[in-house]
Amino acid sequence: MPELPEVETTRRGIDPHVVDRRIEHVLIRNAKLRWPIEEALAPLASGQRILGTRRRAKYLLIDLEHHTLMVHLGMSGSLRVMPASTPPLFHDHVDIVLNDGNCLRYNDPRRFGSFHLLTSDDHALLRHLGPEPLSSDFDGAWLYQAARGRKAAVKQFLMDGRIVVGVGNIYANEALFMAGIRPTRRAGNISLQRYQRLAEAVKELLAAAIEQGGTTLRDFVGGDGKPGYFAQKLRVYGRGGQSCRACSGQLQEIRLGNRTSVFCTTCQR
Ligand code: ZN
Repeated sequence: MPELPEVETTRRGIDPHVVDRRIEHVLIRNAKLRWPIEEALAPLASGQRILGTRRRAKYLLIDLEHHTLMVHLGMSGSLRVMPASTPPLFHDHVDIVLNDGNCLRYNDPRRFGSFHLLTSDDHALLRHLGPEPLSSDFDGAWLYQAARGRKAAVKQFLMDGRIVVGVGNIYANEALFMAGIRPTRRAGNISLQRYQRLAEAVKELLAAAIEQGGTTLRDFVGGDGKPGYFAQKLRVYGRGGQSCRACSGQLQEIRLGNRTSVFCTTCQR
């Protein structure tokens, strides 16, 4: 599933190829995504110049003259720039055709992604989002304050988009290991110092993933393949039963909130 770093990498990959182009038309081959694409989207977006791109959580925001096109990649979506004449593949559901002969093509086998045309950023899907993990609004003090009185497991707390956006299951597992915090510990029972380590771990992981993605930017232009979502060298995720890289003890795997959690009973308290 595309996580925050992949969305940011997509944004950086397409940005130089779409900004300052005009949208000639929007070709929707299949509107049935997670939510049906509204019929008004294509005619409204057509003719508008693309002013810039932004990202909020896992939403890609493409600023037009009068609207913002908000795209979510869902479970399996990808965006690529290619000549508009390129024959579409089976799961190529949307083309944003540009005035330079290229199009921004959306492919999504599982169709959990979405397209919305916004008149402002005050949209229901964006309104209650927590801070961006790589911004200065997110730090240990923020986590500590937000956790006061919380009985939820820290891992579920960290994955709650109202607390901080973009920390998916893999990153939550990895960050908790780096901070030495057991995923099941109550969010309200963790010290400020340990939350500072956790916030630093989240920033370090996401920044490294975005930097790694930077080397794959050319994959977002041309060709028939899909951008290769990148795998980081994982410390605990997917390694249940194997030995901890820090202490050689056996990593334990449990289900927590219906998600897989892997941790070291020695290194994480
Ligand atoms: Zn260990």
